[in-house]
Amino acid sequence: MPGEGKEAGALADAPRAGAAGSPMNAKVVTNAVVTQKIHVSPELIVLRVAPDGWELPDFTPGQFGVLGLPGTAPRVPRADAEEPLQKPEKLIMRAYSIASSSRAKEYLEFYINLVLSGQLTPRLFQLERGDRVFLGKKITGMFTLEQVPEDKHLVLLGTGTGLAPYMSMLRTSFRCGEERKFVIIHGARHSWDLGYRAELTAMARMCGNLQYVTSITRPQEELVPWSGEIGYVQDLWARGLVRDALGFAPTPEDTHFFLCGNPGMVDSMQATLEAEGFVEHKTRAPGQIHTERYW
Ligand SMILES: Cc1cc2nc3c(=O)[nH]c(=O)nc-3n(C[C@H](O)[C@H](O)[C@H](O)COP(=O)(O)OP(=O)(O)OC[C@H]3O[C@@H](n4cnc5c(N)ncnc54)[C@H](O)[C@@H]3O)c2cc1C
Repeated sequence: MPGEGKEAGALADAPRAGAAGSPMNAKVVTNAVVTQKIHVSPELIVLRVAPDGWELPDFTPGQFGVLGLPGTAPRVPRADAEEPLQKPEKLIMRAYSIASSSRAKEYLEFYINLVLSGQLTPRLFQLERGDRVFLGKKITGMFTLEQVPEDKHLVLLGTGTGLAPYMSMLRTSFRCGEERKFVIIHGARHSWDLGYRAELTAMARMCGNLQYVTSITRPQEELVPWSGEIGYVQDLWARGLVRDALGFAPTPEDTHFFLCGNPGMVDSMQATLEAEGFVEHKTRAPGQIHTERYW
């Protein structure tokens, strides 16, 4: 998994703060600026980041970029205590799916979950508008609609911030009224953790080819009774919700599935779908199950 010390792909290209022969220059290392920070809930933010003095590369919806901050950056006070870092000046970098449309050229939008015990997210949550951050210049990833034939329907299942790549796909590629159906199934703990709900509800109301299903796992903590679905995303399949949302029982011939977020959900849904005859997609062996595990 991408992370500090595991520097495949996009992470490998990031500059090293304080690398030998190049004294750390915070302005060069933090090459981007936070232009907007929206609090979805105490543990969820939408962060817009704009490059400072360089152009964003083109990307395909569903791909991810890299955000980073040096270990010297402050953490939110409520984060768990952290062991002293060996090299505090070194950049801590993590992968984040892009939520903005690939047509938006001025900024990238990210949907980020606070991991109290984590290294980077307690620092990202401390950022405010105007603060500087590292943004990787390489955007990568195979979790895209590019290899899905255009006549196939799409079921996009996400837990928590696993909704982010679907926002980019919808904002870029969804066409209201076309024959292809999009079903978005978003699971979270509480109703207030369902980021982008207003945007998705409005789109689904206007467009008959978009179905938006939400499910929460802690209905007992809701402030007012919850009338939507209850339970884990992977449990909705057994209750026939995917079939109901599509209006027909999906088969490998007509529908592709995207699974993103919590690896427990991804593994469980993949096993369920494989038992129904769907196959994991690989570049050399195309299938109908596309996966992105966040940890
Ligand atoms: C391709 C890819 C795309 C990603 N996109 C997003 C994204 O759009 N939004 C986002 O919030 N995260 C995303 N992640 C996860 C992100 O890269 C970090 O792992 C996460 O933000 C935690 O970083 P950290 O440094 O705070 O925690 P770390 O110090 O790296 O601790 C990681 C540990 O925290 C736990 N953990 C990691 N992520 C979560 C989580 N979301 N919820 C609960 N526990 C978690 C796991 O146990 C993991 O081992 C993505 C990961 C990958 C591989």
